[in-house]
Amino acid sequence: MKILVVEDEVQLADALSEILRRNMYNVDTSYDGISGLDNAMTGIYDCIVLDIMLPGMNGIDVLSNMRRNKINTPVILLTARSEVEDKINGLDCGADDYLTKPFVTGELLARIRALTRRKGEIVDDSSLDFNGLQLNKSTCSVMWKGSDVKLSLKEFQIMELLISNPHRILPKERIIEKIWGYESDVEYNNIEVYISFLRKKLSSINAPVHIKTARGIGYSLEQEE
Ligand code: CA
Repeated sequence: MKILVVEDEVQLADALSEILRRNMYNVDTSYDGISGLDNAMTGIYDCIVLDIMLPGMNGIDVLSNMRRNKINTPVILLTARSEVEDKINGLDCGADDYLTKPFVTGELLARIRALTRRKGEIVDDSSLDFNGLQLNKSTCSVMWKGSDVKLSLKEFQIMELLISNPHRILPKERIIEKIWGYESDVEYNNIEVYISFLRKKLSSINAPVHIKTARGIGYSLEQEE
């Protein structure tokens, strides 16, 4: 899952990003409204945490610009004050939720989970399921019938993308955008290496699923026949 944090208080922005990373999210950070909007317009995020008071362009304008351009990424607004006006404005412009500063990070994490809980079958808060195969966020592992195997962070993130979009071909460039970001110099053969690690790990626990190659395009997660 990829999250964008747009917050100009550098310490808060960095602390939030760090907490999200520790919770297995992939995080980009913007410190002003204009670069926040630039990032948001890529459409590659699963959720955006957006401060309202920002230099360059305020959060409400970032949000209304996004929505006008049909970017429907879920947005959680951060309001510095508990002013009713800000919240109403934000919700009117298409925000999905808001948090009033200061807040506890557990609450932010719960709201991000709620907003991103649409794809895949959620077994509980921290695991995704496909054909009996469970991907567990808290242990960073995949499990099949009591056997489990640990994944590296990138393997986990690729597996999460696949399991959230079962039977759908994920193009390699989409995987790179989602996991490494637009400006990365990761190449297709890097992904092939991760996919081959994942295949080995899946077969080591006899999981009845396989990662199918769509030649020249990408990969999909399928049931073993
Ligand atoms: Ca601010």
